[in-house]
Amino acid sequence: MIQPLNLVLFGPPGAGKSTQAQLLMQDHTIDSISTGQRLRDTIAAGTQLGREVEDVMAQGKLVDDTLMTRLLREWLGAIPADRGVLLDGYPRTVAQAEALDGLLSAVNRPLNAAIALMLSDKEAVHRLSGRRICRIPGQPDAIIHIDDQAAVDACLAQGGTLVERPDDAPDSIVRRLAEYNAKTEPLLRWYGRRDCLILIDADGTPATVSATLSAALDTFLRKEM
Ligand code: ADP
Repeated sequence: MIQPLNLVLFGPPGAGKSTQAQLLMQDHTIDSISTGQRLRDTIAAGTQLGREVEDVMAQGKLVDDTLMTRLLREWLGAIPADRGVLLDGYPRTVAQAEALDGLLSAVNRPLNAAIALMLSDKEAVHRLSGRRICRIPGQPDAIIHIDDQAAVDACLAQGGTLVERPDDAPDSIVRRLAEYNAKTEPLLRWYGRRDCLILIDADGTPATVSATLSAALDTFLRKEM
């Protein structure tokens, strides 16, 4: 049996982690754990945990490492053994990467590769400040950019509303990028030293980035085997 793939995906806010995670899931037997989305779902569910993380997230700060590791252990445990796992948004600190080693070996899942999406701060700010959620009753949320007038018009024409993520407010964007540069970017060296890092230029359309990523991942895995 081919071993399922276990991957980490990281990059600055706005780099397109979730979009690339969705595309990778089309090509591999893999389930994704998007920590940001799961935390947002927890807030929407109105649980005690949701109330605890809501302010931290809206300010663009990182949720506490110990809490994240506890949550990740639970989420990882729910993935069937015959499926791979794609971590979208974890680890985000070196402490989380160290914790992840233990969590993965506990469930007997060796990490195959860490994929880093690379994007300049300038492009990240542009993407995040114009990002809106198009919310149409009865339909799944769609992410659009306000520069895309056709997408804005189509959303409104269908009775949709454009909603800004609370952490896409200007102050939060600045904070999130600062958090990334200070706490998450050191993972480049951490994974680089372990020879499992794949760097991807994320300054392109989702399709171009996805094509680059798939090719780089295939080449990397062929070398490993
Ligand atoms: P982005 O990467 O664009 O900021 P995400 O949806 O991945 O968006 O994450 C949103 C927020 O969720 C982060 O700013 C942080 O507050 C919280 N979060 C997600 N993953 C983690 C993590 N591994 N550790 C700490 N906080 C996290």
